[in-house]
Amino acid sequence: MKSHREELWFNLPQRRQLLNITPQVNATLQESGIREGLCLVNAMHITASVFINDDESGLHHDFEKWLEKLAPEKPYSQYNHNGYEDNADAHLKRTIMGREVVVAVTDGSLDLGPWEQIFYGEFDGKRKKRVLIKIIGE
Ligand code: ZN
Repeated sequence: MKSHREELWFNLPQRRQLLNITPQVNATLQESGIREGLCLVNAMHITASVFINDDESGLHHDFEKWLEKLAPEKPYSQYNHNGYEDNADAHLKRTIMGREVVVAVTDGSLDLGPWEQIFYGEFDGKRKKRVLIKIIGE
């Protein structure tokens, strides 16, 4: 069995932002030379997510509104976590949107459904953060 590990680094200018990382994950898969196996992609931070959904701007706006209803950023004082930090909402948003995805690798490609794309979800940006890609197979 072969295995391949890669980190993607981000430093997004906004507090919250969704980024389609499917091209980077696919490039890593091609670099690995693995044809059959599994590809894990996970956020390495507790205020960021990796998830799969549609690359459609209306939906991304809906995610923002929905997450702000569930875990509004402000007022910061509403959260017990916000003693020295102001990112309690980002921890909650990350939990809802998920930590990782696993995608099948078939015939050298990411075996995604027709509209499935892999996203990095940043909920507490303006700092360096990373995503881990681990591909195993042969
Ligand atoms: Zn925190």
